Amino acid sequence: MKLVLIFILIFLSYDGSAQKGNNAVSINKKDELVYLCTGYWASAYHKNSKCDGILSCKQTIVKINKTEALKKGRKSCKMCYSK
Ligand SMILES: [Zn+2]
Repeated sequence: MKLVLIFILIFLSYDGSAQKGNNAVSINKKDELVYLCTGYWASAYHKNSKCDGILSCKQTIVKINKTEALKKGRKSCKMCYSK
């Protein structure tokens, strides 16, 4: 009985860490964090929080997933992403 419990615990913890590992990889690759200005004329998202484009923002600067920024119709900033 004890052995069965240990086996289940090992199995569950292995499964959990494997899933977390996969998520972490996909977050790093696809859900890169980007900065965007909430000003209504703003149309880009920025990789660099010190970019001229984001520093000229007069509204709030938010940090969100790149996927979310794309859903909002934002395009990559030419200054940040040309480097
Ligand atoms: Zn930029």
